[in-house]
Amino acid sequence: MLQAKLKEGKLVTLATFNRKEIEQMKQQKWKFYCPTCNHEVIMKAGSKMVPHFAHMSKIHCPSNEGGEGPYHEQGKLMLYQWLKSQNINVQLEAHLKEINQRPDLLLTINNKRIAMEYQCARTPAEQIKQRNEGYKRAGITPIWILGAKRFNRQTGNHFRLDQFTLQFIHQFSSGLPLTLFYFCPQTLQFIIIQDIYLTSTGQAIGKITSTKLNNISFPDVFIQNSFSPNQLNQLWKNEKRQFRLKTRKNLYGNELAWHQWLYLKGTHLEYLPSIIYLPVASGYLMKTPAWNWQSRLCLDVLDRLATGQTLSQRSIKYHLRKHIQQPRDFPLIPSEDNPIENYLQLLTHLNIVKKLSPSHYQKKNSLQFYKSIEESLQGDNDLMNALANHPDKIQA
Ligand SMILES: [Zn+2]
Repeated sequence: MLQAKLKEGKLVTLATFNRKEIEQMKQQKWKFYCPTCNHEVIMKAGSKMVPHFAHMSKIHCPSNEGGEGPYHEQGKLMLYQWLKSQNINVQLEAHLKEINQRPDLLLTINNKRIAMEYQCARTPAEQIKQRNEGYKRAGITPIWILGAKRFNRQTGNHFRLDQFTLQFIHQFSSGLPLTLFYFCPQTLQFIIIQDIYLTSTGQAIGKITSTKLNNISFPDVFIQNSFSPNQLNQLWKNEKRQFRLKTRKNLYGNELAWHQWLYLKGTHLEYLPSIIYLPVASGYLMKTPAWNWQSRLCLDVLDRLATGQTLSQRSIKYHLRKHIQQPRDFPLIPSEDNPIENYLQLLTHLNIVKKLSPSHYQKKNSLQFYKSIEESLQGDNDLMNALANHPDKIQA
C-alpha cells in the first residue's frame, strides 16, 4: 500500500518523501499502521522501488489480498499521478465504508464514481467477483487495469487470453467492443485491446494499441477502436486456413475428444462445411473454441434436419449446454449476449437457415461437405468473401 496512518490517524503517502527524509523516519523509528486493519506496517523503500508500506509477515488483511508487490505499488502511484495531472478528482486507496472496500484509485467525475483497480497478482476469481459486486451495490463503475507482465502478445493482432484474464474483459455498454487494459510502470506503456475474438483455447485476436501513458488522457481510454469489417474478414480468413492446415500432434483433452467425435461422425476436419468456425464476438460465452461448438451445432442438430424442418434456439441451447459459460463469470460485461443467436444470424445471412420467429428457425439448405482440402480451402475463401460483402453482418 502507498498510504499508512500515523498513531493519531493522519495518512502518510511515503512516496511523497525523499530518500533522506525516509531514512530519517527509519532512524527515528516512526510507527505506521494499516488504514484497513490497524496492524503496524513497515516501510519498503529500496533504491529501485517506489516507497510504500507492507504488512509484517502473514497478517490477514483485506487490503493484502493477492499479495501485490512493488510493481503494483509503482503502477498504482503512476496512474494516480497521471489522473491528478489532468485535474481529475482522484483518491488513492480510499476506504469505502458502505462496502468496506479500498479500490486502488477512486475517481469522481460529474458525481459519477469510478473505481480503478490495478491488478497484477493472480487473485482468486471469487474475490474479484466479490469486489465487483460490492462496486455494483455502491453504484460505482469498476475499471480493471492489468499488470503488463500478464500481457502476452504473439503477433500484431494475436495474444494469449487465459481463463484468469477473461474475467477482466470490459464492455461499457451493450454493443460496444470487448476491451482489456494493461499498464507497465517500467516502460509506461498503456495497452488497450479492443474488439476481442476468441480463436482457440487461450488464444484471441484483438485490435491492440500501445501508447505511453503520458501521451493519452483519461477519456482517450474509452475511444472506440475496432477492426474494420475488412480487417476482421482478412484475419478470420487466415484463422480458417490455419484451422484446416495446421499439423496437430499429440492431441489431448477437448481437442482430442473433438477429433474422435468427428471420426465417429464419419468425417474429418478437412471435409467440414465452411460455415463451421465463423467469427462470433460473443464467443467468449462458450467454453470451447468456435470450431468445436459450431461443428456440434451443425453436425448434431442442423445436418440431421431435412430442408424445411424447423429448429428452436432452446433445443440448440440444450444440446450445447456443456459448452456454455455462465454470464456471471464476466462481471464487467452487462449485456446478455447470445452466441448461439449470433451464429444463427450469420447462418441466416448465408441462407442456411431462415428466421421464423425470435426463437425459431427453418433449415433452408443442406450443409456442404467437401471431398478434398483444396475444395474446402476454396470454399472457405468464397464464404468469407460472401460475408465481407455484408460488413454489417459479420460482426454478429
Ligand atoms: Zn491491513
